[in-house]
Order: sequence, then C-alpha cells, then structure tokens
Amino acid sequence: MEAHPASKVVNDQVRGALKKMSDNRQTLLVISAHSADFVWRAGGAIALYSKRGYRARVLCLSYGERGESASMWKAGKTLAEIKAKRREEAERAADILGAEIRFFDQGDYPLRPTAELIDELVDEFRTYQPVAVLTHSLVDPYNMDHVRATELTLESRVLAQAHGYPGKPDVIDAPPVFLFEPHQPEQCEFKVHFLLDITEVFEQKRRAMECMGAQEYLWEYYTDLAKRRGLQCKRNGGPKTCVYAEAYQRVYPQTGREFV
Ligand SMILES: [Zn+2]
Repeated sequence: MEAHPASKVVNDQVRGALKKMSDNRQTLLVISAHSADFVWRAGGAIALYSKRGYRARVLCLSYGERGESASMWKAGKTLAEIKAKRREEAERAADILGAEIRFFDQGDYPLRPTAELIDELVDEFRTYQPVAVLTHSLVDPYNMDHVRATELTLESRVLAQAHGYPGKPDVIDAPPVFLFEPHQPEQCEFKVHFLLDITEVFEQKRRAMECMGAQEYLWEYYTDLAKRRGLQCKRNGGPKTCVYAEAYQRVYPQTGREFV
C-alpha cells in the first residue's frame, strides 16, 4: 500500500533530520596511497575515533594493485581481478573499523597526481572540514607513492585554506596533520611525536588487518609493532592500561595556552 502523502512528508523530514544529525559529526580524514596502508598504519586511530562518534573518512588514492599485491600477480591474476580484490578487502576492513571509504583509482607504481585529483581533495577538505588529517611520512626511499600521497595531502590542505582557490566556498582553518609510522621509520626520518593508545580497539584493528589476504605476512608484524609502541606509550606517561599503540609524527606545531 502506498504511504499517505502526509506521512511521506513526515518520514522525509525525519530522514532529513537524521541525515543532518549524522552530517554534524566531526571528521577524521585519512589519506592513504594504497588500499591497505590505512589499515596497518592508522587502523587503531580510525576505529577509536569512529567509536567516539566521529566520521572516520578514508580516501584511497589507488588500490595498490601493482606495487603491493605481489602474491596475486604470482598467482596469475589480471590487473582487473587484483583491483577488484583489493577494493573488496579495503571495504571490508573499513567496515570493521567503522570508516567511510572512497577510492580514486589513480593508479600506483607510480601514483601520478593530476590537477583533477588535487581539486577533488580540496573539495574533500572543504566539504568535511576535518578536525585532524592522517597521512604518510614526508620521506620514504622505499615507496615514492607514499611520499606523493603526503605531498598531495599537504598541498590540497593549503589550497583548501585559500579563499582565491576555486571549488567549494567553505575554506578550512588549520587542521593538524599526523603522519603514519612508515615500515622502516629510521630510513624515513620519522620522529615519534605522539603515541595513541589503541588498546580498546586493537581487536578491531587485528580483524581489519586479517582482511588483507595479499599481505598476510604483515599481520603479526604490525601486531608486534603495536605492542612495542604500547609499552613506550606507558613509559612516556600514557595510560597505565595501554597495551597497544600507534605512533604519529606531527607536521605543524601543537598550539594552545598550556603545555599540558
Ligand atoms: Zn602503500
């Protein structure tokens, strides 16, 4: 039976109000060069912020189809099959972490930035006005795509602040940028500026990592790393209950009226 027009209007109003409520969530924006990077490096932060009621929004610039899918190439899969599989894995991982995910399919190895991609990222900044942004390290001699993703993030963030840059009208303020811990931090000039206690959501991060079938060898690696960072978090004044943590480097200064 068709709904009465009046009840349809009410339902539309309720749906509109619910959508507005959900749209008012503050956003944690995560920009990932390849489809699995956000899981290893920021899965805990994403699950934590999602649990706290934030919108955790992940932007995957590529699927990591050429550079981070060796086992599927060795198994004789086609490029299209690999991209589809990587996308499906990343969607499942994002779902477990409570994140929204958008894929740009920009290609990897190499990831080639385009003017259109920068404009899309500027629009993401202006639309979601993120409270914080997570992305790759500034230096990574093992992976140029990671560095390009960082450069794209920093550039689009600055452009999104400029009143004269075209696109959506709402310029952004100055959301802090936190850099993921790279795979070999010593080679990437990575400094730990912040240790985030992810103990309460680590089980979700582990399940999300286990979605990445092409990189099974990394599951234990990133579990061990989280334990080491957890111990350091405790030693550096973090919660005494901390068991697992993720490390981040800041790009811009911390600000405020007090040191602590
Ligand atoms: Zn990567």
